[in-house]
Amino acid sequence: MLLPLCPPIVRRCLVPRRCLSSSALYDVVVSGGGMVGTAMACALGSHPHLRHKRILLLEAGQRKASEPLPEKFSNRVSSITPGSATLLASFGAWDHIGAMRLKPYKRMQVWDACSDALITFDKEGMEDMGYVVENDVITAALTCLLDSIGEHVEVRYRARAVGYTWPAPYSNGEGSPFVEIHLADGQSLHTRLVIGADGQNSLVRRSAGMRTIQWSYNHVAVVATLQLSEATDNNVAWQRFLPSGPIALLPLSDTWSSLVWSTSPEHASQLIRMDDESFVDAVNSAFWSSEHHSDFVSSAGSLLHSAVSFLRPSGSSSRQLPPSVSHLGHKSRASFPLGLGHATEYVRQRVALIGDAAHRVHPLAGQGVNMGFGDVASLVHHLSRAAFDGQDLGSTRHLLEYETERQRQNLPLMATIDLLKRLYNTKQPPIVLLRTLGLQATNALPPLKMILKM
Ligand SMILES: Cc1cc2nc3c(=O)[nH]c(=O)nc-3n(C[C@H](O)[C@H](O)[C@H](O)COP(=O)(O)OP(=O)(O)OC[C@H]3O[C@@H](n4cnc5c(N)ncnc54)[C@H](O)[C@@H]3O)c2cc1C
Repeated sequence: MLLPLCPPIVRRCLVPRRCLSSSALYDVVVSGGGMVGTAMACALGSHPHLRHKRILLLEAGQRKASEPLPEKFSNRVSSITPGSATLLASFGAWDHIGAMRLKPYKRMQVWDACSDALITFDKEGMEDMGYVVENDVITAALTCLLDSIGEHVEVRYRARAVGYTWPAPYSNGEGSPFVEIHLADGQSLHTRLVIGADGQNSLVRRSAGMRTIQWSYNHVAVVATLQLSEATDNNVAWQRFLPSGPIALLPLSDTWSSLVWSTSPEHASQLIRMDDESFVDAVNSAFWSSEHHSDFVSSAGSLLHSAVSFLRPSGSSSRQLPPSVSHLGHKSRASFPLGLGHATEYVRQRVALIGDAAHRVHPLAGQGVNMGFGDVASLVHHLSRAAFDGQDLGSTRHLLEYETERQRQNLPLMATIDLLKRLYNTKQPPIVLLRTLGLQATNALPPLKMILKM
């Protein structure tokens, strides 16, 4: 059975503006129509101060909402925060996502394979902690929305930008020349502002000479779709830190979950090649085995736990057992190399970076696309103010405000994720002891936990 996606659309040039010649001048061109770039195009086209601007979305790939949503879950999913859901709801995309498919989760349990240390997060009452959504569903919902605001945003699929000609460095302010974008089919066009949403290898970033700090984690994420041994409410997101890397199980439905297992490249290629049954055994063992357990560290952790529980009886939360897995979804295994990347500048005159083009993080905290949606909210806010004040959208005046705001948010988050990755990637007893005590104390002290949850 195939689930309905978005209402059928008539594919024709709805608005004269869509049929303009390729050399037309745009106010904003978003280069890259992944989840973040497409959200940016929707947010621009829906904003009352911006929707009369000439906006273009360029995507090298094909349109992603032309087929009905398959019954089978995709192996690429994202944990979406309530903040991102609010942004997507602000221009109507969250309703589309809800009408297609999402799975809310109420609780998160993170624990250490080397000790009994664990931390749990949940919200008061039965409020949702977050949502697991397939990446294809997010893109399809945003694409449906773009169809409905077609008079405000032009979209070109299979349109790869192959080069950019930037304004001369000495030109300043309103009177500077525009950016020229060269497309693979030989056409070119001009814009006052290019928004680079073209992913971790961003051509916009490289072509503008914006420097990046980056390193590989020598880690690969193996993803898969897994069937559970029995149906449950399945409303908990699970993550266990193994010495080789974190393994996470995110709920998709009562009987299906999505796996993200970060590990060494050698182990990842074994996991990808092994037969289905061995893979399922490896996943169950990774969640259940006590192979890496250190009795000394666990005893120290238990002592601390008892002490804190005595002082604050209602402080800590109980441990739950993760579900066991019975089957691997057909051909659902895939792998992705992991690394960190951060552009030292997010903006220059007539250019701004958003999403993975600006920052790339390890998926252990499920923050990558959420940070990208945060960029969208911030940039749209600053561009709408500029438009309201009648300013040139490509001027650094307001773009720098965007950069400052986002770097303030993104940098501490990236540093924390990087620290967690390093802290949990070792079996060395002093470090294991330190992190066990830290995790137990944080779990037992709600005010400290509140800070992490935000
Ligand atoms: C295993 C794994 C699990 C993850 N889990 C989570 C999670 O749970 N929560 C979370 O928040 N994040 C998660 N992330 C991170 C998240 O997937 C990324 O942050 C997100 O996909 C980035 O989206 P983007 O639109 O910025 O870039 P991309 O998805 O890379 O999109 C870039 C787009 O630009 C287009 N493009 C590229 N070059 C050009 C060009 N020259 N011209 C035109 N178009 C171009 C591409 O075709 C593509 O569509 C995870 C990542 C991995 C690897």
